[in-house]
Amino acid sequence: MRTDDYFDPEIETMMPDDLRALQEAKLATQLDYLFARSPFYQEKFAAAGVRREDFRSLKDLARFPFTLKEELRESQQASPPLGSHMAADMIDVIRLHASTGTTGRPSFVGLTRKDAQVWTKVTARSFYAQGIRPCDILIHATGLTMFAGGLPAKDAIELIGATFVPVGTGASEKVVLYAKSLRASAIHCTPSYAMYLAEYVRREAKMDPRELGIKKFVCGAEPGAGIPAVRAKITEEWGARVTEGLGNADMIPIIFGECPEQSGMHYNGQEYVFNEIIDPESGEVLPIEAGLSGELVYTSLERECVPLLRFRTRDRVTILGTSCKCGRTSYKLRCVGRTDDMLIVLGVNVFPSAVRDIVSSFYPQMTGEVQILLEQPGPGVKPPLQIVAEYGNGGPDQAALQKKVEDKIKSVLSVSAAVQLVPEGTLPRFEMKGQLIRKLYEK
Ligand SMILES: [Zn+2]
Repeated sequence: MRTDDYFDPEIETMMPDDLRALQEAKLATQLDYLFARSPFYQEKFAAAGVRREDFRSLKDLARFPFTLKEELRESQQASPPLGSHMAADMIDVIRLHASTGTTGRPSFVGLTRKDAQVWTKVTARSFYAQGIRPCDILIHATGLTMFAGGLPAKDAIELIGATFVPVGTGASEKVVLYAKSLRASAIHCTPSYAMYLAEYVRREAKMDPRELGIKKFVCGAEPGAGIPAVRAKITEEWGARVTEGLGNADMIPIIFGECPEQSGMHYNGQEYVFNEIIDPESGEVLPIEAGLSGELVYTSLERECVPLLRFRTRDRVTILGTSCKCGRTSYKLRCVGRTDDMLIVLGVNVFPSAVRDIVSSFYPQMTGEVQILLEQPGPGVKPPLQIVAEYGNGGPDQAALQKKVEDKIKSVLSVSAAVQLVPEGTLPRFEMKGQLIRKLYEK
């Protein structure tokens, strides 16, 4: 391994015991800060009956309460502008980002100068792990304005020394024009957009996507780029390497990034975010080992504006390994879906991304675009699962194709499905985040 294989060689190859000691010391300091400065946590800790002296080592963290996204929303509504979980002074806040949840009301996150530097550093580590280098010209084809994956991505790409081209969303014509005239080598977008853009290039620019010469697809914002069939499709269409990243707008936009081994995303928040994997039903902390599946929980270790303790992400992840040929000592995972999105069909857990995985495996007979229709709010769904999926070119016998897809869903997921086939291009394409579920009850 060479030192230029890593953005921060020392921390990315640190021995796990040394890292734990560092995290323990930092968490103690972060707790001092929370007990002293966060009205939100002062109240939560008092209600849970935990005191500062209850934390002596990392394993004591499990005694402290979880933080839920709904609590942050309520706190922000009750104490504007940023909520009682804001622990810095507003004068020290240099930027705000917002995410819009299902309620449509924006949820703000503030950054001090130091917080912004941490975001930039961790995000840069992830992009670097994904193979971005100073020589790259990267087209940013996802949200740019209030989106936490926008300006922080710009800062990180610039810190690496690569060239950031801020195209944003809704501008496929410009993406193609700039990629061609600037000879861009990389693109940052969602996996759904990577697939849509290939279709767009064929249809509108009358080109083979490979002719654009993009060699690196740095994907994120939704699970998908790690699904073998989706990855194979993007790779084949573009002749490019696909890697994915994962983060959280309330914590750090990109905390995990996949290395060139393409076998899961490395954890790159080492000294800034402590992670736990829990059983989403019982809340029990599970030991991190290959094959483990559970919900990802983040704790900030050095945050000023909105330090969060045991923040439940609702991201359902699977640990793929705790060592890697690339030399990074952090574990690797894949996000399989949101625990919020999970459906239960006659007692069987079904992630919408798993349905897309199966449908995508029929590519090119199917485009891979899919929507699950819900008549009533989940997670419980009466069988059969209603699925709309697009057929691609060259699938003449639709009845047989439909049966094949239904059979495969039944054999892999153990649920019965009713698949309705629609022509290519019928389902909406998303540049920010794909919507795999259509709620028929929300008109
Ligand atoms: Zn690796």
